[in-house]
Amino acid sequence: MTTDTALGEGAARRLLGEVFGFSGFRPGQEEVVAAVEAGEDVLAIMPTGGGKSLLYQLPALTRPGVTVVVSPLIALMRDQVRALRAAGVAAGALTSGNSPEETEEVFAALDQGVLKLLYMAPERLATAGTGGLMSRIGVSLLAVDEAHCVSQWGHDFRPDYLRLGALRKLLGGVQTVALTATADAETRAEIAARLFGETRPRVFLRGFDRPNLSLAFQPKDNPRRQILDFVAARPGLSGIVYCASRARTESLAAALTEAGHTALAYHAGLSDEDRRLGETRFQREDGLVVCATVAFGMGVDKPDIRYVAHADLPKSIEAYYQEIGRAGRDGAPADTLTLYGSDDIRLRRTQIDEGAAPMERKEADHKRLNALLGLAEAKRCRRQTLLAYFGETLAEPCGNCDLCRDRPALFDATEAARKAFSAMLRTGESFGAEHLIAILRGDRLERVLRRGHDQLPTFGAGRDLSKAQWQTIFRQLMGLDLIRPDPSRHGAFRLTEAARPILRGEEALELRADTVARAAAPTRRVL
Ligand code: ADP
Ligand code: ZN
Repeated sequence: MTTDTALGEGAARRLLGEVFGFSGFRPGQEEVVAAVEAGEDVLAIMPTGGGKSLLYQLPALTRPGVTVVVSPLIALMRDQVRALRAAGVAAGALTSGNSPEETEEVFAALDQGVLKLLYMAPERLATAGTGGLMSRIGVSLLAVDEAHCVSQWGHDFRPDYLRLGALRKLLGGVQTVALTATADAETRAEIAARLFGETRPRVFLRGFDRPNLSLAFQPKDNPRRQILDFVAARPGLSGIVYCASRARTESLAAALTEAGHTALAYHAGLSDEDRRLGETRFQREDGLVVCATVAFGMGVDKPDIRYVAHADLPKSIEAYYQEIGRAGRDGAPADTLTLYGSDDIRLRRTQIDEGAAPMERKEADHKRLNALLGLAEAKRCRRQTLLAYFGETLAEPCGNCDLCRDRPALFDATEAARKAFSAMLRTGESFGAEHLIAILRGDRLERVLRRGHDQLPTFGAGRDLSKAQWQTIFRQLMGLDLIRPDPSRHGAFRLTEAARPILRGEEALELRADTVARAAAPTRRVL
């Protein structure tokens, strides 16, 4: 290590304590700050609450010029500006929430060259004069918060974010830090391409593991009973029960109240006043259970939420992660439980298919749902499966998930998997589960016959298993990352390297027997 970087790190550490009042860095923060200090373009992927703001706030203070922060979350920007000012940092915001006086003040500070951090709503990028302003004020760092908003296939697409690439060019390719909690590979690639163009950012993906959260999934059996039991096992603790519909938040809150818990329902159909009341009570009271739609939680910053349950399957693995992530922010143990049933899966698929999104986005959404299903039906440590999705590796099983605590019954699926792999390879890895299952089961469908797939040696080789069983097997293969849907080819499965030894007969494969048995029963069809 050179003296220079040692000095730089010293300064950063000193500011960390003096300005922000933190005693040390959170996992991942230090290396990202060091990269920014070294002048690198950075794309940092960290979970919500991981401490992303510091990644540009700290470097903003150690350099001359203004750091411009673009964020779509106006309330959050205003909070940050307030906190920074309280810590003695010259910060200001240009958003639609400003009073004329505030805006005047910001412009004056910019003119005097004293502002260190300028927060800006993305709408501002479309305003005439913003380009001129930006080139005048000496921007030395551009920070793009919620950078996934630039992704057209994501859920939070903001057309104004597409102007950021141009702004960056206008500022002579100013050093840029992009931040997001969305970790899927496509979004990551889209952010890199749209914001950074030819210059590739250095990508950091850190801190997704939340070891204090216990993870568990259960197939829906008697969901009301399952939720009541889960809550009853945690009396007097604060928790959230996420539901897929408003009606369900009401009925579950009523059932919990009847069972003697303090519970309330929260959804977007309530009046503003009732919603605020619910949020305030949750924040202040101990032992309140909120049955809520996903509308709840955005503005909630309660560190001691002791559990999050999903009475219905979330819509994607990202949504799942974000929602369970609201529990245990204080680092103390917290529990999560996610229920899933065939109706949920159908509902989520229908929501995707009937939504207004373009085809490619629908495919991507199906894939995110598939990843969650793979996690639901995982046969090894859930945390390893979850983190693998985000691109992080956990070397050992966690010991804090239902599958680590209670090993599920497995069956030897080596032959079934080899047949599936063989069907994939013989059709050029160009098809999804449905077509492959038709081949394996020897279904003489028109689309199978048209392609001559009835001539394949694997045609009918998997007749011994039902369609539902094959669907479960394919989903488990996906959950184990032995096969991967290829988003650029409409979700056609391809083999991963991990599948090769099984295909060659060098390794055996076990899959969970419980899900296969469930799939076989007519009332328990998984899809
Ligand atoms: P994100 O943007 O990743 O969701 P924030 O930047 O808002 O996260 O930080 C989340 C919380 O963690 C904030 O309350 C922040 O003050 C706190 N925080 C961030 N870094 C540290 C740190 N090094 N030590 C202690 N607290 C921190
Ligand atoms: Zn585990």
